[in-house]
Amino acid sequence: MLTVCVLAAACLMAGFSPAGLMADEPATADHFSGEQAFGYLKALCDLGPRPSGSVGMQKQRGMIVRHFEGLGATVSRQPFQIRDRRSGETVAMENLIVSFHPDRSDRVMLAAHYDTRPFPDRDPVNPSGIFIGANDGASGVALLMELGKFMGSLPGKIGVDFVLFDAEEYVVDRRDPYFLGSIHFARRYASKPPKHRYLCGVLLDMVGDENLLLPQEYHSISWPDTRPIVDGIWQAASEVGAREFVPRPGPTVDDDHVPLRTIGRIPTCDIIDFDYPHWHTTQDTPEHCSGKSLETVGRVMLHWLRGVSRGGSEP
Ligand SMILES: [Zn+2]
Repeated sequence: MLTVCVLAAACLMAGFSPAGLMADEPATADHFSGEQAFGYLKALCDLGPRPSGSVGMQKQRGMIVRHFEGLGATVSRQPFQIRDRRSGETVAMENLIVSFHPDRSDRVMLAAHYDTRPFPDRDPVNPSGIFIGANDGASGVALLMELGKFMGSLPGKIGVDFVLFDAEEYVVDRRDPYFLGSIHFARRYASKPPKHRYLCGVLLDMVGDENLLLPQEYHSISWPDTRPIVDGIWQAASEVGAREFVPRPGPTVDDDHVPLRTIGRIPTCDIIDFDYPHWHTTQDTPEHCSGKSLETVGRVMLHWLRGVSRGGSEP
């Protein structure tokens, strides 16, 4: 993501109740496993840096597609190209759209970026060193890889798409644009509308911090169409006892949810722990992430999705 400023407005949630959340959520064996999710995070990081157009990205794409197809999902590729500003060469990009119950026309999008920043440019020692992107890159993907195991049995009428964006931060210097993948996706959705429609979207970014704390990203609570989504998710968090979801305003973060909403007209909120000391440094590694954090966010998302889908109405 791009810029941040902390706003201290005293903006508290209204008493929104998410559609259809039920008290009889079964405490079943189908428990979102933080251990499994963390295993995926490590496997992604073991591929090395995964910036757009790299060999690491290609390997990662193969791993992700195999994983989700193995879970019975339909994976669509959305290729696009950009011209590198420095070399003038074409770079091949690809968003991935992972669909569960593709026949369901009312859909919810969960999104994450899967590229990693080319360089750890905030690193005080080695800003042109190796950037692994364990939290900023792998965490959202790993969470979705575990969450995907529960989507085939999602009750109700809502279909779910996991959308993985390329080129969120194909950024080498300040002049480089962010969000190329989500902008491409949003333009396509707006100009050539598919048969389905997205009721809403949730972006997951930097959700693996070992010291997880999730206040509510400020765009997401300021926009009238995304505020109810935030309220519903934080309500779901309170129901599963996830105290890391704090119902108070957090930083304003420009992230992939901005083009999704402004260009694609898909109301999308951002779940992000921006208080991560290793952001854009060589230290953004699995050692500073935890399966427990992934499990916390995963359980909340699963509980929220089940409620929304059972309700069968706008979140
Ligand atoms: Zn980043």
